[in-house]
Amino acid sequence: MQDLRINEQRLWDTLMEMGEIGGTEKGGCNRLAGTDLDKQSRDIFVAWCKACGCEISIDKIGNIFARRPGLNNDLPAVGTGSHLDTQPTGGKFDGVFGVLSGVEVLRTLHENNIETPTPMEFSVWTNEEGSRFQPAMQGSGTYVGRFDLETELNKTDVNGIRLGDELARIGYLGDMELGSRNMGAFFEAHIEQGPILEDEKKAIGIVRLGQGIRWYNIEVVGRPSHSGTTPMHLRKDAMLAAAAIVTEMKAIADRHENGLGTVGFMQVWPNSRNTIPGNVKFSADLRNPRPDVLLTMHEELLAFAEKIAEEHGLDVNIDPFWYFAPVEFNASDDVKAATEKLGYSHMDIYAGAGHDACYMADLVPTGMIFTPCLNGISHNEAEYSSPEECAAGANVLLHTMLEASERIAKQHQA
Ligand SMILES: [Zn+2]
Repeated sequence: MQDLRINEQRLWDTLMEMGEIGGTEKGGCNRLAGTDLDKQSRDIFVAWCKACGCEISIDKIGNIFARRPGLNNDLPAVGTGSHLDTQPTGGKFDGVFGVLSGVEVLRTLHENNIETPTPMEFSVWTNEEGSRFQPAMQGSGTYVGRFDLETELNKTDVNGIRLGDELARIGYLGDMELGSRNMGAFFEAHIEQGPILEDEKKAIGIVRLGQGIRWYNIEVVGRPSHSGTTPMHLRKDAMLAAAAIVTEMKAIADRHENGLGTVGFMQVWPNSRNTIPGNVKFSADLRNPRPDVLLTMHEELLAFAEKIAEEHGLDVNIDPFWYFAPVEFNASDDVKAATEKLGYSHMDIYAGAGHDACYMADLVPTGMIFTPCLNGISHNEAEYSSPEECAAGANVLLHTMLEASERIAKQHQA
């Protein structure tokens, strides 16, 4: 078992074959959730899993589970999976690499007639990208109970088409209850989507945390007046106050290790060249892997907004409407053990983006395996990982799952 390795060429060919479904001219992928192309990618995944003797189940939000029996099928399975949907100008690897690494693990076990102590389960999660339907990670979030099923099935795309209708139309609105799989651990392999592994020349990132996120809607209420007749000291310029807060977002991020701060959306009223802005609405996004640090960043933003309101003599209203607590990946030691056994260079890392594994961590011990991607580019048609980089990630997934299966079997014996 120690010498067992996945087939690098077969994994690569499978990635390229999947990449043709919705393939774009620039070498990327456009495969939105619930479309005919999504159906094609799901169908081929199901066919590949069936060819290796898996039993297929589909739940009420369209997540697919392919189960390979083990020596004791009463034991909880070791699961892996990710998503097959992409951004409109997405790449061939984001999500797909995780799903197809799973398929490659399955094929490796199958062709070597390996009987694992527990069942192994290979999954595809519905609409991870949140591009056609919102929110992102919709399938996994609904599966673990973070979102209400009916609400999510009723979500519509820009043309008013319901997710539930699309899933039914493409044949993937199942009847299996949400959260009902007997799973003892879950692992997701994913490209890093950032530059750190490449920069540090490491083959594998052992993901310890998914970082925390705080989102805000901020409104500055000043007073609109003529830009040519209002002296500077008599103005209540909402834009100036907003600009100070935007700049402070970077200062807050810089003051804290691993801090990130972004303002990516802004509306100015009346948005006219010769009127002092009376009202500015904008978004704010603060992130940190540590909950205590993220709370401090949050408090600093609120305090700064209060100070600015006073200094500028206007109102600043902040609505902190969303908090995503940092996720701890409790099964990352299995990933580390497998990586060290295989002799790959590695480092601990945290996930900057959301992943299906972040929600699965609600239910079972979970781990993530990151692999490098060229120039850290993702959500882009130029997204690229080399065959060797992909193979390293899939080998770690294989041995992580074997490790976890042994561990679960032992725990249930004791
Ligand atoms: Zn992804």
